[in-house]
Amino acid sequence: MRHVAIVGSGPAGYYTAETLQKAEDIAVDVIDRLPVPYGLIRTGVAPDHQSIKAVSRRYEGTALTDNVRFVGHVSIGTDVTIDELVELYDAVILATGAPNDRPLDIPGADLPGVIGSAAFVGWYNGHPDFADLNPPLGAAGVAVIGNGNVALDVARILAKTPGEFAGSDIVSHAREQLAESAVRHIHILGRRGPHQIAMTPKELGELGHLERASPRVDPADLPPEGDDALLEPGMRKSVTHLRSFAANPVAKPVTIDFDFFAMPVAIEGDDRVQRIIVERTMLDAELRSHGTGETYAIDAGLVISCIGYQTPPIPGVPYEHGRGRFANDEGRILPGLYCVGWARRGPSGTIGTNKPDGIRVAEMVIEDIGRGAGKAGRPGLDALLADRGVTPVTFRDWRKIEEAEVKAALDGNPREKFTSVEAMLAAIGR
Ligand code: NAP
Repeated sequence: MRHVAIVGSGPAGYYTAETLQKAEDIAVDVIDRLPVPYGLIRTGVAPDHQSIKAVSRRYEGTALTDNVRFVGHVSIGTDVTIDELVELYDAVILATGAPNDRPLDIPGADLPGVIGSAAFVGWYNGHPDFADLNPPLGAAGVAVIGNGNVALDVARILAKTPGEFAGSDIVSHAREQLAESAVRHIHILGRRGPHQIAMTPKELGELGHLERASPRVDPADLPPEGDDALLEPGMRKSVTHLRSFAANPVAKPVTIDFDFFAMPVAIEGDDRVQRIIVERTMLDAELRSHGTGETYAIDAGLVISCIGYQTPPIPGVPYEHGRGRFANDEGRILPGLYCVGWARRGPSGTIGTNKPDGIRVAEMVIEDIGRGAGKAGRPGLDALLADRGVTPVTFRDWRKIEEAEVKAALDGNPREKFTSVEAMLAAIGR
């Protein structure tokens, strides 16, 4: 038997496991620090995007194959080190995603009320690390920084009525706090223009169908319509949505303003955020933004920065700081150590982008490890963890947790997630 450990049970981890298990003589351990699998699918993808979350059924199919095992509630660094895993397995593949926010490097970014999207998204999705976030929703104004799909998710969740969360798996604490929210004016700040957004058409189009919120675009920010012909089709569709928002402003109680050519330069407030100072920009020939010196202020009691993510470094593992990912050559980090998905290429692309990535890295690993080096693998990890008094959560345990979550679901929602590790473990009698 050959032995492979995958660290991280999100999309990249399970797509890689799916290819590896087809080799039949490879035992794959998928290790996660949480007692529950699926990473980004569970705690990143928006709770009102259940069709995207449904891909976890495919990962379940992989998890239930004979050679794949879920090893939950085991932390790298505390329960076992990467060096130990490399000793035990023919290959170790880091599929740890990019769960940390890229820092917002402007004065005032450390004021209370300035939150990164990882924390805000984790809060409404029930990630145990962010369950107690209590984002300040008591002021009318919110600034959402960034022009990617995460900014759209965040703005949409802030704008929805309680009824619009029907059928979602938003956690109760978020649904309740959002129901009481005083937020009425959401500004999405893009430092460049409509032709430079990183938003996809389906997600952008959703903003046009909200019950009590309407998107607004200043027609003056739109380039001449003829220029759209140069865009690739998806982008052209997105820009068409922006044009329709500009042409058909709808009066609704909540507004979602697209502030284009708007670069945040400072966040101000006495002891918490009260306003964000934005500098108007213009683009150079390379489409980079430059400040014009003209600034304006937006009143905001909450600022959510959605400017991209980073992979958390692991001591001893080479890391590319500029790009926020492991230093790697096509997925190879060091002998016996690999990375895949966002940890390999940075936080870009859709869930599906991780599939070819997982296949490629798995095939490379299969070739690299040859017949295997007779490593201890699974029994070796079990012995080491037992020695340390660590009892992993199995996939069978997870299904019990899931059953309890489904049973606790309210109002026809698919599940009510546990939001603490303790509650997850209690569901399996620990
Ligand atoms: P993203 O797509 O990389 O967008 C980041 C945005 O932040 C860009 O508009 C960027 O502007 C802006 N930005 C970066 N640094 C900034 C700064 N210092 N000041 C102001 N703006 C700054 O990242 P994301 O939205 O986090 O999404 C991550 C990935 O997940 C993407 O591939 C996304 O498509 C995917 N995703 C998909 C879905 C979905 O399919 N439903 C949902 C959520 C996320 P510049 O272009 O000027 O750098």
